[in-house]
Amino acid sequence: MLLQRRLNERREPAYRAGQVWAWAARGVTGYSEMTNIPGELRGELEHEVPFSTLELEREATARDGTRKALFRTHDAHPVEAVLMHYRDGRRSLCLSSQSGCPLTCTFCATGQMRFGRNLTPSEILDQALHFRRAESIDHAVFMGMGEPMLNLDSVLEAARGLPDLGITWRRTTISTVGWLPGLRRFVDEVEEPIRLALSLHAPTDELRSQLMPVNARYPLADVLAECERYFALRRRQVFVEYVMLGGVNDRFEQAQALASLLDPRVFKVNLIPYNPTGFYKGSTRKAIAAFKDVLDRARLPATVRLTRGRDIEAACGQLAALSR
Ligand code: SAH
Repeated sequence: MLLQRRLNERREPAYRAGQVWAWAARGVTGYSEMTNIPGELRGELEHEVPFSTLELEREATARDGTRKALFRTHDAHPVEAVLMHYRDGRRSLCLSSQSGCPLTCTFCATGQMRFGRNLTPSEILDQALHFRRAESIDHAVFMGMGEPMLNLDSVLEAARGLPDLGITWRRTTISTVGWLPGLRRFVDEVEEPIRLALSLHAPTDELRSQLMPVNARYPLADVLAECERYFALRRRQVFVEYVMLGGVNDRFEQAQALASLLDPRVFKVNLIPYNPTGFYKGSTRKAIAAFKDVLDRARLPATVRLTRGRDIEAACGQLAALSR
Protein backbone atom coordinates (compact mmCIF):
# COMPACT_ATOMS: atom_id res chain seq x y z
CA MET A 1 0.00 0.00 0.00
CA LEU A 2 1.18 3.44 -0.93
CA LEU A 3 0.47 4.87 2.53
CA GLN A 4 2.53 2.20 4.24
CA ARG A 5 5.39 2.72 1.82
CA ARG A 6 5.45 6.46 2.44
CA LEU A 7 5.34 5.97 6.20
CA ASN A 8 8.24 3.52 6.01
CA GLU A 9 10.29 5.83 3.83
CA ARG A 10 9.84 8.57 6.38
CA ARG A 11 10.72 6.14 9.19
CA GLU A 12 7.48 6.95 10.95
CA PRO A 13 6.68 4.92 14.07
CA ALA A 14 4.82 1.66 13.41
CA TYR A 15 1.57 2.90 14.95
CA ARG A 16 1.06 5.68 12.38
CA ALA A 17 -0.74 3.53 9.83
CA GLY A 18 -3.12 2.42 12.56
CA GLN A 19 -3.80 6.02 13.52
CA VAL A 20 -4.61 6.94 9.93
CA TRP A 21 -6.92 3.94 9.59
CA ALA A 22 -8.70 4.70 12.86
CA TRP A 23 -9.51 8.22 11.65
CA ALA A 24 -10.61 7.02 8.22
CA ALA A 25 -12.86 4.36 9.76
CA ARG A 26 -14.54 7.03 11.87
CA GLY A 27 -15.45 8.86 8.71
CA VAL A 28 -13.13 11.86 8.48
CA THR A 29 -12.93 13.42 5.03
CA GLY A 30 -9.18 13.89 4.77
CA TYR A 31 -5.77 13.83 6.43
CA SER A 32 -6.20 17.39 7.71
CA GLU A 33 -8.70 16.20 10.33
CA MET A 34 -6.27 13.68 11.86
CA THR A 35 -5.27 15.78 14.82
CA ASN A 36 -2.92 13.30 16.50
CA ILE A 37 -0.73 13.18 13.40
CA PRO A 38 2.04 15.78 13.06
CA GLY A 39 1.03 18.65 10.81
CA GLU A 40 3.97 18.31 8.50
CA LEU A 41 3.20 14.64 7.86
CA ARG A 42 -0.47 15.42 7.25
CA GLY A 43 0.52 17.98 4.66
CA GLU A 44 2.82 15.55 2.92
CA LEU A 45 0.25 12.76 2.85
CA GLU A 46 -2.35 15.14 1.48
CA HIS A 47 -0.13 15.84 -1.51
CA GLU A 48 1.25 12.39 -2.09
CA VAL A 49 -1.17 9.69 -0.98
CA PRO A 50 -4.70 9.85 -2.38
CA PHE A 51 -7.18 9.56 0.49
CA SER A 52 -9.22 6.94 -1.39
CA THR A 53 -8.28 4.34 -4.00
CA LEU A 54 -11.60 5.10 -5.71
CA GLU A 55 -12.77 8.21 -7.45
CA LEU A 56 -16.45 8.99 -7.14
CA GLU A 57 -17.92 9.44 -10.59
CA ARG A 58 -21.60 9.78 -9.86
CA GLU A 59 -24.07 9.35 -7.06
CA ALA A 60 -27.86 9.02 -7.07
CA THR A 61 -30.53 8.88 -4.38
CA ALA A 62 -33.71 6.87 -4.89
CA ARG A 63 -37.17 7.90 -3.72
CA ASP A 64 -36.86 5.43 -0.83
CA GLY A 65 -33.57 7.00 0.29
CA THR A 66 -31.32 4.29 -1.16
CA ARG A 67 -28.05 5.76 -2.38
CA LYS A 68 -25.94 4.34 -5.17
CA ALA A 69 -22.39 5.44 -5.89
CA LEU A 70 -20.47 4.77 -9.08
CA PHE A 71 -16.70 4.88 -8.62
CA ARG A 72 -13.68 4.38 -10.87
CA THR A 73 -10.50 2.62 -9.87
CA HIS A 74 -7.18 4.29 -10.76
CA ASP A 75 -7.12 2.12 -13.90
CA ALA A 76 -10.65 3.17 -14.92
CA HIS A 77 -12.67 0.11 -13.89
CA PRO A 78 -16.23 0.91 -12.77
CA VAL A 79 -17.35 -0.12 -9.28
CA GLU A 80 -20.77 0.39 -7.74
CA ALA A 81 -21.93 0.27 -4.13
CA VAL A 82 -25.32 0.89 -2.54
CA LEU A 83 -26.51 2.05 0.88
CA MET A 84 -30.03 1.03 1.89
CA HIS A 85 -32.07 2.60 4.69
CA TYR A 86 -34.77 0.51 6.33
CA ARG A 87 -37.74 1.67 8.37
CA ASP A 88 -36.46 -0.08 11.49
CA GLY A 89 -33.39 2.13 11.32
CA ARG A 90 -31.04 -0.44 9.83
CA ARG A 91 -28.53 0.92 7.34
CA SER A 92 -27.11 -1.73 5.12
CA LEU A 93 -24.27 -1.45 2.65
CA CYS A 94 -24.09 -3.53 -0.50
CA LEU A 95 -20.45 -3.91 -1.51
CA SER A 96 -18.82 -5.04 -4.74
CA SER A 97 -15.96 -7.54 -4.74
CA GLN A 98 -15.07 -7.32 -8.44
CA SER A 99 -15.54 -4.82 -11.26
CA GLY A 100 -18.07 -6.69 -13.38
CA CYS A 101 -18.34 -10.46 -12.97
CA PRO A 102 -16.97 -13.38 -14.97
CA LEU A 103 -20.02 -15.55 -14.24
CA THR A 104 -22.96 -15.07 -16.54
CA CYS A 105 -26.12 -15.61 -14.54
CA THR A 106 -28.85 -14.91 -17.07
CA PHE A 107 -31.00 -12.69 -14.83
CA CYS A 108 -28.22 -10.44 -13.52
CA ALA A 109 -27.14 -7.22 -15.22
CA THR A 110 -23.61 -7.42 -13.81
CA GLY A 111 -23.18 -10.76 -15.58
CA GLN A 112 -23.90 -9.05 -18.91
CA MET A 113 -21.19 -6.42 -18.57
CA ARG A 114 -17.52 -6.96 -19.28
CA PHE A 115 -15.51 -8.47 -16.43
CA GLY A 116 -12.80 -6.10 -15.27
CA ARG A 117 -10.80 -7.50 -12.39
CA ASN A 118 -10.77 -8.40 -8.73
CA LEU A 119 -10.87 -5.45 -6.36
CA THR A 120 -8.17 -4.94 -3.74
CA PRO A 121 -9.04 -4.86 -0.02
CA SER A 122 -8.62 -1.05 -0.06
CA GLU A 123 -10.93 -0.71 -3.04
CA ILE A 124 -13.59 -2.70 -1.17
CA LEU A 125 -13.16 -0.77 2.08
CA ASP A 126 -13.11 2.58 0.27
CA GLN A 127 -16.65 1.86 -0.98
CA ALA A 128 -17.73 1.55 2.63
CA LEU A 129 -15.72 4.57 3.79
CA HIS A 130 -17.40 6.72 1.16
CA PHE A 131 -20.78 6.18 2.82
CA ARG A 132 -19.33 6.15 6.33
CA ARG A 133 -18.21 9.74 5.83
CA ALA A 134 -21.84 10.80 5.52
CA GLU A 135 -23.57 8.60 8.10
CA SER A 136 -23.23 5.64 10.44
CA ILE A 137 -23.75 2.15 8.99
CA ASP A 138 -24.49 -1.13 10.76
CA HIS A 139 -24.80 -3.94 8.19
CA ALA A 140 -22.84 -5.00 5.13
CA VAL A 141 -23.57 -7.55 2.42
CA PHE A 142 -21.23 -8.65 -0.35
CA MET A 143 -24.05 -8.64 -2.87
CA GLY A 144 -22.85 -5.97 -5.27
CA MET A 145 -20.87 -6.65 -8.42
CA GLY A 146 -18.81 -9.78 -8.63
CA GLU A 147 -18.47 -13.20 -7.04
CA PRO A 148 -16.82 -12.83 -3.60
CA MET A 149 -15.55 -16.44 -3.53
CA LEU A 150 -13.44 -15.70 -6.62
CA ASN A 151 -11.67 -12.94 -4.67
CA LEU A 152 -11.87 -14.40 -1.20
CA ASP A 153 -8.60 -13.14 0.29
CA SER A 154 -9.36 -9.51 -0.51
CA VAL A 155 -12.98 -9.86 0.58
CA LEU A 156 -11.92 -11.30 3.93
CA GLU A 157 -9.24 -8.71 4.48
CA ALA A 158 -11.83 -6.00 3.84
CA ALA A 159 -14.45 -7.74 6.00
CA ARG A 160 -11.96 -7.93 8.85
CA GLY A 161 -11.71 -4.12 8.76
CA LEU A 162 -15.46 -3.50 8.83
CA PRO A 163 -15.91 -3.64 12.64
CA ASP A 164 -13.80 -0.47 12.87
CA LEU A 165 -16.51 1.25 10.83
CA GLY A 166 -19.21 -0.01 13.17
CA ILE A 167 -20.21 -3.12 11.18
CA THR A 168 -19.73 -6.29 13.21
CA TRP A 169 -18.98 -9.66 11.60
CA ARG A 170 -22.35 -10.99 12.66
CA ARG A 171 -23.85 -8.20 10.59
CA THR A 172 -21.66 -8.94 7.59
CA THR A 173 -22.84 -11.40 4.94
CA ILE A 174 -20.94 -12.90 2.04
CA SER A 175 -23.14 -14.07 -0.81
CA THR A 176 -22.01 -16.68 -3.32
CA VAL A 177 -23.26 -18.55 -6.38
CA GLY A 178 -21.64 -21.60 -4.78
CA TRP A 179 -18.13 -21.30 -6.22
CA LEU A 180 -16.82 -24.37 -4.44
CA PRO A 181 -13.08 -23.76 -4.14
CA GLY A 182 -13.71 -20.45 -2.36
CA LEU A 183 -16.70 -21.72 -0.44
CA ARG A 184 -14.69 -24.67 0.94
CA ARG A 185 -11.96 -22.35 2.13
CA PHE A 186 -14.55 -20.04 3.67
CA VAL A 187 -16.04 -22.93 5.62
CA ASP A 188 -12.69 -24.34 6.72
CA GLU A 189 -10.72 -21.21 7.46
CA VAL A 190 -12.94 -18.33 8.46
CA GLU A 191 -13.38 -18.24 12.21
CA GLU A 192 -14.99 -14.82 12.42
CA PRO A 193 -18.79 -15.11 12.69
CA ILE A 194 -19.35 -13.79 9.15
CA ARG A 195 -22.64 -14.93 7.63
CA LEU A 196 -23.09 -16.92 4.46
CA ALA A 197 -25.74 -16.52 1.76
CA LEU A 198 -26.21 -18.84 -1.19
CA SER A 199 -27.77 -17.70 -4.47
CA LEU A 200 -29.80 -20.79 -5.31
CA HIS A 201 -32.69 -19.69 -7.57
CA ALA A 202 -33.76 -23.18 -8.64
CA PRO A 203 -34.53 -26.50 -6.95
CA THR A 204 -33.12 -28.74 -9.71
CA ASP A 205 -29.80 -28.96 -11.52
CA GLU A 206 -31.50 -28.77 -14.86
CA LEU A 207 -33.18 -25.44 -14.22
CA ARG A 208 -30.29 -24.03 -12.20
CA SER A 209 -27.85 -24.72 -15.02
CA GLN A 210 -30.11 -22.83 -17.41
CA LEU A 211 -30.23 -19.81 -15.12
CA MET A 212 -26.68 -19.98 -13.80
CA PRO A 213 -24.07 -21.58 -16.07
CA VAL A 214 -21.77 -22.02 -13.03
CA ASN A 215 -24.06 -24.84 -11.90
CA ALA A 216 -22.69 -27.14 -14.61
CA ARG A 217 -19.33 -26.91 -12.87
CA TYR A 218 -20.47 -26.99 -9.26
CA PRO A 219 -23.82 -28.78 -9.07
CA LEU A 220 -26.51 -28.29 -6.48
CA ALA A 221 -25.87 -31.28 -4.24
CA ASP A 222 -22.19 -30.41 -3.76
CA VAL A 223 -22.92 -26.78 -3.00
CA LEU A 224 -25.69 -27.58 -0.53
CA ALA A 225 -23.47 -30.15 1.18
CA GLU A 226 -20.85 -27.46 1.69
CA CYS A 227 -23.45 -25.12 3.23
CA GLU A 228 -24.52 -27.92 5.55
CA ARG A 229 -20.91 -28.37 6.58
CA TYR A 230 -20.76 -24.64 7.39
CA PHE A 231 -23.81 -25.04 9.61
CA ALA A 232 -22.38 -28.11 11.31
CA LEU A 233 -19.08 -26.38 12.02
CA ARG A 234 -20.20 -22.84 12.76
CA ARG A 235 -23.79 -23.28 13.96
CA ARG A 236 -25.03 -20.40 11.86
CA GLN A 237 -27.94 -20.64 9.47
CA VAL A 238 -27.33 -20.08 5.78
CA PHE A 239 -29.50 -17.63 3.85
CA VAL A 240 -30.77 -18.90 0.53
CA GLU A 241 -31.51 -16.29 -2.12
CA TYR A 242 -34.18 -17.17 -4.63
CA VAL A 243 -35.04 -14.60 -7.29
CA MET A 244 -38.66 -15.00 -8.39
CA LEU A 245 -38.94 -15.36 -12.17
CA GLY A 246 -42.49 -15.56 -13.53
CA GLY A 247 -43.30 -18.97 -15.04
CA VAL A 248 -39.67 -20.05 -14.72
CA ASN A 249 -38.98 -21.00 -11.10
CA ASP A 250 -42.12 -19.85 -9.25
CA ARG A 251 -44.48 -22.79 -9.72
CA PHE A 252 -46.15 -24.78 -6.97
CA GLU A 253 -44.15 -27.96 -7.66
CA GLN A 254 -40.95 -25.96 -7.59
CA ALA A 255 -41.81 -24.59 -4.17
CA GLN A 256 -42.46 -28.13 -3.02
CA ALA A 257 -39.17 -29.32 -4.49
CA LEU A 258 -37.36 -26.46 -2.74
CA ALA A 259 -39.00 -27.30 0.57
CA SER A 260 -37.90 -30.91 0.34
CA LEU A 261 -34.40 -29.96 -0.75
CA LEU A 262 -33.59 -27.63 2.15
CA ASP A 263 -33.23 -28.62 5.79
CA PRO A 264 -35.20 -26.02 7.80
CA ARG A 265 -32.64 -26.09 10.60
CA VAL A 266 -29.87 -25.09 8.22
CA PHE A 267 -31.45 -22.76 5.68
CA LYS A 268 -33.54 -19.61 5.68
CA VAL A 269 -35.03 -18.60 2.35
CA ASN A 270 -35.13 -15.06 1.06
CA LEU A 271 -37.53 -14.71 -1.88
CA ILE A 272 -36.34 -11.83 -4.05
CA PRO A 273 -38.72 -9.96 -6.35
CA TYR A 274 -36.99 -9.86 -9.74
CA ASN A 275 -35.67 -6.48 -10.77
CA PRO A 276 -36.06 -6.10 -14.51
CA THR A 277 -32.81 -6.47 -16.42
CA GLY A 278 -34.35 -7.37 -19.74
CA PHE A 279 -34.75 -11.11 -20.00
CA TYR A 280 -37.48 -12.28 -17.68
CA LYS A 281 -40.75 -11.24 -16.17
CA GLY A 282 -40.92 -10.99 -12.41
CA SER A 283 -43.36 -13.25 -10.57
CA THR A 284 -46.63 -11.62 -9.61
CA ARG A 285 -47.21 -10.73 -5.99
CA LYS A 286 -49.78 -13.48 -5.86
CA ALA A 287 -47.31 -16.05 -7.16
CA ILE A 288 -44.71 -14.97 -4.61
CA ALA A 289 -47.25 -15.24 -1.78
CA ALA A 290 -48.36 -18.70 -2.96
CA PHE A 291 -44.76 -19.86 -3.20
CA LYS A 292 -44.02 -18.59 0.30
CA ASP A 293 -47.13 -20.33 1.55
CA VAL A 294 -45.77 -23.72 0.44
CA LEU A 295 -42.49 -23.03 2.26
CA ASP A 296 -44.38 -21.86 5.38
CA ARG A 297 -46.40 -25.06 5.45
CA ALA A 298 -43.19 -27.08 5.23
CA ARG A 299 -41.89 -24.96 8.12
CA LEU A 300 -38.98 -23.77 6.04
CA PRO A 301 -38.26 -20.20 7.25
CA ALA A 302 -38.93 -17.78 4.39
CA THR A 303 -39.22 -14.03 3.92
CA VAL A 304 -39.85 -11.81 0.91
CA ARG A 305 -37.10 -9.29 0.42
CA LEU A 306 -38.02 -5.62 0.22
CA THR A 307 -37.01 -4.09 -3.07
CA ARG A 308 -34.93 -0.97 -2.60
CA GLY A 309 -33.62 1.60 -5.04
CA ARG A 310 -35.18 0.26 -8.21
CA ASP A 311 -35.74 3.72 -9.70
CA ILE A 312 -32.00 4.41 -9.76
CA GLU A 313 -31.03 0.89 -10.87
CA ALA A 314 -29.56 0.21 -7.46
CA ALA A 315 -31.60 -2.91 -6.75
CA CYS A 316 -30.27 -6.49 -6.67
CA GLY A 317 -28.87 -7.53 -9.99
CA GLN A 318 -29.03 -4.06 -11.51
CA LEU A 319 -25.44 -2.97 -10.91
CA ALA A 320 -23.97 -2.70 -14.37
CA ALA A 321 -22.36 0.73 -14.31
CA LEU A 322 -24.26 1.82 -17.40
CA SER A 323 -23.68 5.42 -18.32
CA ARG A 324 -27.09 6.98 -18.17
N1 SAH B 1 -22.13 -13.33 -7.02
C1 SAH B 1 -22.70 -13.33 -5.71
C2 SAH B 1 -22.79 -11.96 -5.13
C3 SAH B 1 -23.76 -11.04 -5.84
S1 SAH B 1 -25.23 -11.14 -4.96
C4 SAH B 1 -24.04 -14.02 -5.75
O1 SAH B 1 -24.59 -14.18 -6.83
O2 SAH B 1 -24.53 -14.44 -4.71
C5 SAH B 1 -26.41 -10.55 -5.98
C6 SAH B 1 -27.76 -11.09 -5.55
O3 SAH B 1 -28.77 -10.45 -6.31
C7 SAH B 1 -27.86 -12.57 -5.83
O4 SAH B 1 -28.63 -13.24 -4.91
C8 SAH B 1 -28.51 -12.53 -7.17
O5 SAH B 1 -29.09 -13.72 -7.46
C9 SAH B 1 -29.51 -11.43 -6.98
N2 SAH B 1 -29.94 -10.91 -8.29
C10 SAH B 1 -29.23 -10.88 -9.42
N3 SAH B 1 -29.94 -10.34 -10.42
C11 SAH B 1 -31.14 -10.01 -9.90
C12 SAH B 1 -32.30 -9.38 -10.43
N4 SAH B 1 -32.35 -8.99 -11.70
N5 SAH B 1 -33.34 -9.19 -9.61
C13 SAH B 1 -33.28 -9.55 -8.31
N6 SAH B 1 -32.21 -10.14 -7.75
C14 SAH B 1 -31.14 -10.38 -8.54
